[in-house]
Amino acid sequence: MKNICLLGATGSIGDSTLGVLDQHPDEFKLHSIAANTNWEKVLQIARTRGVQKVCMFDPKAAERLQRTASELKVYAGMEGLLELARDPESDTVVNGLVGAVGCRPTLQAVECGKIVALANKETMVMAGPVIHAALDANPKAQIVPVDSEHNAIFQCLAGRPVSEVENIQLTASGGPFRELPKDRFAKITVADALKHPTWSMGRKITIDSASMMNKGLEVIEAHFLFRVPYDQIKVVVHPKSVIHSMVQFRDGSLMAQLGVPDMKIPIQCALTWPRRIELKTGRLDLAQLGELKFYPPDFERFPCLQLAYEAGKMGGTAPAVLNAANEVLVASFLDEKISFLDIPRGLEYCLGAIALNKETLTLASALEADASARELASSYVSSR
Ligand code: MG
Repeated sequence: MKNICLLGATGSIGDSTLGVLDQHPDEFKLHSIAANTNWEKVLQIARTRGVQKVCMFDPKAAERLQRTASELKVYAGMEGLLELARDPESDTVVNGLVGAVGCRPTLQAVECGKIVALANKETMVMAGPVIHAALDANPKAQIVPVDSEHNAIFQCLAGRPVSEVENIQLTASGGPFRELPKDRFAKITVADALKHPTWSMGRKITIDSASMMNKGLEVIEAHFLFRVPYDQIKVVVHPKSVIHSMVQFRDGSLMAQLGVPDMKIPIQCALTWPRRIELKTGRLDLAQLGELKFYPPDFERFPCLQLAYEAGKMGGTAPAVLNAANEVLVASFLDEKISFLDIPRGLEYCLGAIALNKETLTLASALEADASARELASSYVSSR
């Protein structure tokens, strides 16, 4: 029986995780949950599943929840997230938090020798080398990727050493603007950008998919998760999202992982690996699909992807700056304060204007870069 700590319980990864746990009451026990503000949903999840320890990142929501449910032990803020991440009563942490806030809880869980099913890509993007050091110092700890592409790569690698890998091929749906002519990008509205063709996800990641920054962040995530150089990480546009990613081995074999677009598949894989157990979800019917199409990525119409490769290769604090600035710019786009094209423009501005630290990354320098990039991106937004 695995005791699960679920961070980000009310979001889309949270829903899918609960869907997996509910199918296997004999395998998993939900031990603790955390969310940002939605205390009503947290209360409902806690009461229906007998969870006693919860954390609301928002202190007001924590107060409200504690007043409503005196039977619960309610933690608050980052300290609360860290408390749940290190609690010795849970052995596996599912990190489905959105954004940079997910970084420290991952690190904490790794330092406590836990298994982390990681859906929070920002952890690896902003602090990859810090997580490496923690993993190397805590051999019992393991990070199993939940992000569908990285979980696919993890399955294709199946423990083979990186020295056998020629390249990693991340598939990208291409988002809603895959075929949009360049001159129409200036008029993209929030509603247009929120229409993702294949996956149903939270708002921030859906905008990132539309700008292809999501794939850019995933390139950096793959670099740190699998310790593969950037020139061995490729992106291939595959609109149907049936192949979730591939690994080209040196002997000519190309391994791919396929499945219906349901996050329960990578989540369950991360929770049961190296075992595979039944999961009730859709099955692919390849004869019915008929064909699968692939295209090269268009770096010109999707400059965010190019910027992510550049920031990744710069190293040091550059990925943390890229990620933090992107979070601010995407939130501002969702608030209709800036245009869609201002997202890559703002990123370029921030990467150029900030003093990048190329020394060995520490948690402190990553968090500092995150904070100054947010400030700089906010000032860019006000200037628009
Ligand atoms: Mg993904």
